[in-house]
Amino acid sequence: MFTLRSFAVALLICFAASITFSAITKAEDEAQMKKDIKTMTGDFICVLPMDKDGNVKAVIASGDCSGYAPHVHVFREAGTANVFSIEATPEKLHELEISPNKKGVTLAGRVAGSTRGWILYVE
Ligand SMILES: [Zn+2]
Repeated sequence: MFTLRSFAVALLICFAASITFSAITKAEDEAQMKKDIKTMTGDFICVLPMDKDGNVKAVIASGDCSGYAPHVHVFREAGTANVFSIEATPEKLHELEISPNKKGVTLAGRVAGSTRGWILYVE
């Protein structure tokens, strides 16, 4: 016989099961994300504006580049022709900017994009 009490118990079991399921899914997601982290060595390149005509210059700075005009960065993987657009938190980007080492640096992150262009989300 179906009662309100058995319904409540069934509801509770479903709720508990869904919590367990979401915990497992989250753990699997985190494990998958860790697996997706790729570590690469290469050059951290500044792409600097040169003039009002829109010309830009790509340079491997010899030190802190945070004093230059606002600019973007790309990463070229050593020994390959792979160039990645870099995405990171403002804090991580600043850490990379002020680093004295720009050549042969090791970055870890997730790679996204396509053969038309790759993005490295630096961890
Ligand atoms: Zn720079």
